[in-house]
Amino acid sequence: MALLLSDSVLSLKGVGEKRAEILSKNGIRTIEDLLFFFPRTYRKEEVFPLSEERCGRFSGFYLTADSAPGVFMMAGGRRVLRFLASDEEGARVNILYINQPYLKNQIRKGDSSYYFGILQRKNGAYYLFSPQRKKTAPDPDRIRPIYSSLPSLSTTQTEKMISQCLVPCLSQISETLSPALCEKYGLLSRKKALFTLHCPETEAELEKAKERFCFEELFGFSIRAALFQKRYEAKKVPAFPKGDLTEFYSLLPFSLTEAQHKVLEEIRRDMTGDALLPPMNRLLQGDVGSGKTVVAAGAAYLAAQNGKSTLLMAPTEILAQQHFATFQKLFSNTSLPVFCLTGSTPKKEREELYSHTLSSLPYVLIGTHALIEESALCQNVALAITDEQHRFGVRHRTVLGEKGGAMHSLVMSATPIPRSLAMFLYAGGKISVIDKLPPGRMPVETLYVGEDKIPRIYSFLKEKIAEGRQAYVVCPLIEDEDDASPLQSVQEEFSDLRQALDGIPVALLHGQMKPAEKNRIMDSFQRGETKVLVSTTVIEVGVDVPNSTVMVIRNAERFGLSQLHQLRGRVGRGEHQSYCILISSHSGKSTRERLKKLCDCHDGFELAKYDLKTRGPGEFFGTRQSGFGGVDFSGVSMALLEKASLAANEYILTATPEELAVYQDMTKLN
Ligand code: ADP
Ligand code: MG
Repeated sequence: MALLLSDSVLSLKGVGEKRAEILSKNGIRTIEDLLFFFPRTYRKEEVFPLSEERCGRFSGFYLTADSAPGVFMMAGGRRVLRFLASDEEGARVNILYINQPYLKNQIRKGDSSYYFGILQRKNGAYYLFSPQRKKTAPDPDRIRPIYSSLPSLSTTQTEKMISQCLVPCLSQISETLSPALCEKYGLLSRKKALFTLHCPETEAELEKAKERFCFEELFGFSIRAALFQKRYEAKKVPAFPKGDLTEFYSLLPFSLTEAQHKVLEEIRRDMTGDALLPPMNRLLQGDVGSGKTVVAAGAAYLAAQNGKSTLLMAPTEILAQQHFATFQKLFSNTSLPVFCLTGSTPKKEREELYSHTLSSLPYVLIGTHALIEESALCQNVALAITDEQHRFGVRHRTVLGEKGGAMHSLVMSATPIPRSLAMFLYAGGKISVIDKLPPGRMPVETLYVGEDKIPRIYSFLKEKIAEGRQAYVVCPLIEDEDDASPLQSVQEEFSDLRQALDGIPVALLHGQMKPAEKNRIMDSFQRGETKVLVSTTVIEVGVDVPNSTVMVIRNAERFGLSQLHQLRGRVGRGEHQSYCILISSHSGKSTRERLKKLCDCHDGFELAKYDLKTRGPGEFFGTRQSGFGGVDFSGVSMALLEKASLAANEYILTATPEELAVYQDMTKLN
């Protein structure tokens, strides 16, 4: 029987209940879902000789095992398999696999295999740590798709499943863009593009296929955003009659900078008046530490002055707690109550909060996005403030526009983005920029060093801790076992540091921990009991511990400049000189230039422009959180983005209501 796109993955050979369940957990239930599970990356099976020049980069080598593997134990109980291998010219490399003892029986002396991984050099010898291995000889012309590995499903197994249904089902794939549009913008058809993503023949063709899907997503996004903006503006709200900020200014422990003042005025004008007006939809941009929070508090004050409540949504529980502390302090001598709602809010406080929301008195409620969206606390709320993630989502539009009725919206972006990009992402919204930092900030001294300097950095940490300071150490997270990358995992760094800093309290923090656990760890760091916090980028956004003066970043090459700048912004918040140390032994020229740029430049907007120029706008999206499906935007250009936005604007003018209806679904904006 012919296979249909809507059939369950169970119709495929080799897929039983167990595998179907794994797939289903990852959102893949039907053949169609599977076909839209795009490769994470592509690899050409190129072969390089072992050489200094390949160090620090992903490369493929065709190697022959010179010895049978031996297994030994490492400190911490890890079992390491190790053997020597050589390339065709006789250069030798140590190959190590951690915790994969079964490989011992699969690799024999004299076996030739294709290995793929990052070559490293230590004490004059080459090393490959857990490289990917393929027993057959490499085919240098073939571009192989690499799929994200799902639990107990390797990329090869995914490839096998997809090859069963790609050709039989391709004719059922529907087109979403008109032929005229495809022609005008030089886009591949959807069928052709889908086929090419899974089976690319040439790199040029692969680029066209990616471009087609990027265009489709960006085009859809633009239309949705524009339609949303129209509906949003049509919902008129009563203007706030009062707009006197004198009392608010007297609450502040400092005077606002001119830039903050200007922005707060813009916000005031958006919301006050004596008639009906379209609800505010404003993006507040400012560099790390430019003082966006207090502007948000000013907006909340205005709402309260007019008898209205404010919701403030933070991306993480840690940040919600922090904003809560700031707002509570600020409004402590006023009659405006501030509440916090997170997963760990005790029942009693929750009840107090609920009973207050039933009264008609204004309040400020701070919490995580998820909780606030769930709760039905929108009575008498006139303003929603969103503190954004590093990467952009457009979630706020859904909450406000469709569910919560019309209310003013202020979005604070954690990372400054170039204006051109902001205008695309906040289509139709207005943009405010705080372009100057509060006075008296000392720039964070930024250093860029190789991994060989790690012992010296550890002693530097000891010194600073002896002086009473604290430090962060950030590592990229290993996302994929088959990545074959020797990226420093937080866990490893944690145990190394604990050993190196004997006796100094070090704590570990990562995104997969329970909220209560995270809070406990952050509290201890905030109180100064924990001296060093080893973490993934969960601390990226907004955390404020002024006594912390050193930020160490491992594998700094993995991050964009904006993200590094954001991390750097965690220090330099107090009276002491602060340091940001970028560690990377990556040898690529553009990486080195990028990291050097960060040492010299302390302006977030300029760094964002540099990222946009060298890495493209994809850097700012982040595929998972943003509105952009599973599409990989890493290679997308600003030009394509502008084309898609132009095409969307044309389309809106000519499309019928039925055609536009496809784009009304706001949940797709997430
Ligand atoms: P961000 O824009 O990164 O969210 P914050 O709002 O957290 O920055 O502000 C960073 C720090 O600067 C806070 O400790 C805040 O109290 C302080 N701050 C904000 N505005 C001023 C100002 N006008 N003068 C002095 N300090 C300020
Ligand atoms: Mg902030």
